[in-house]
Amino acid sequence: MIIKLFDSRTQFTHIPGLHDAILNNEDTLTDMQIDLALHYPEYIHATVDRIESNQLVSSDGSIHEFNYCVIATGSRTKFPHDEASRQYAYTLNYACDVIKLNDILREPCTKRITIIGG
Ligand SMILES: Cc1cc2nc3c(=O)[nH]c(=O)nc-3n(C[C@H](O)[C@H](O)[C@H](O)COP(=O)(O)OP(=O)(O)OC[C@H]3O[C@@H](n4cnc5c(N)ncnc54)[C@H](O)[C@@H]3O)c2cc1C
Repeated sequence: MIIKLFDSRTQFTHIPGLHDAILNNEDTLTDMQIDLALHYPEYIHATVDRIESNQLVSSDGSIHEFNYCVIATGSRTKFPHDEASRQYAYTLNYACDVIKLNDILREPCTKRITIIGG
């Protein structure tokens, strides 16, 4: 039996640990990520665009057949509707989000951060 893993990202992130790197040593982010290609021989770096009967089509146009398909695409942050609030809203899902937040938090004009969820 062959199990293939398609993911648009190249690394798995241990999300519950991300907050440790906020205003802290960003080197710890390395330990919170694992390279999917190293751990899953059948990993395919691709975004799946659509699934039609027993085939899936990835963003590069390639078609892959399967007997069974498990969809585990996770969830996305729901941002506030109004543009003014969205301007100050950020996600915390990946290492790059922590680096972006740290840059903002280190700006002298930043006074307060509120974390919703997670
Ligand atoms: C800050 C924070 C702290 C958290 N702390 C905890 C905790 O302490 N304990 C706990 O149990 N949970 C915690 N959670 C929740 C936990 O991280 C999530 O429930 C979990 O990551 C969900 O896993 P998932 O596999 O469903 O989705 P994800 O981890 O989001 O994985 C989905 C994957 O699908 C890929 N993908 C999406 N669409 C496509 C596509 N079209 N083609 C190819 N790939 C695609 C994405 O690249 C992603 O890698 C926390 C979450 C956050 C944000």
